[in-house]
Amino acid sequence: AVALPAAAYMLLDHEVHAAEFERTFIAIKPDGVQRGLIAEIISRFERKGYKLVAIKVVIPSKEFAQKHYHDLKERPFFNGLCDFLSSGPVVAMVWEGEGVIKYGRKLIGATDPQKSEPGTIRGDLAVVVGRNIIHGSDGPETAKDEIDLWFQPEELVTYTSNAETWIYG
Ligand code: ADP
Repeated sequence: AVALPAAAYMLLDHEVHAAEFERTFIAIKPDGVQRGLIAEIISRFERKGYKLVAIKVVIPSKEFAQKHYHDLKERPFFNGLCDFLSSGPVVAMVWEGEGVIKYGRKLIGATDPQKSEPGTIRGDLAVVVGRNIIHGSDGPETAKDEIDLWFQPEELVTYTSNAETWIYG
């Protein structure tokens, strides 16, 4: 067998680890963008230790918003919600890390900012449910579907961050 330097084993170990990381779809809605909260929101995911693997600014069409929120089409607020999501720029992102789908939702806080805990994004930065500034996938299937809807595969970047050694041990 070829003897690899210790650092090479660490890298291989890491690539295996990185391949197991899950990904979630996070979007800063038009209210968050217009209120100048892009950096604030990104920094909360970044400081936690999650890795940004895709990002773009888009104004979704109403039809696209309807696709994104298709699960809610029977709800009375569906039309207004889709009008709102398509009313201006959205920052669409994919974040990666251990447990990022579920913990990302914790960082975001409850749907209704009146019920979100202080310390969460919605708890700290939003007041009403119709203007709750951020979207995050609510489970593994929706994460996959939403990433596929918003991004082409080549827009997702796979890379190893040197910080991972310090985040995951
Ligand atoms: P979440 O975004 O927390 O996953 P839902 O999937 O239930 O929540 O709802 C999607 C979005 O629809 C919410 O983030 C919010 O912007 C909007 N919404 C939910 N409930 C209401 C409501 N009662 N009135 C207006 N808008 C709502």
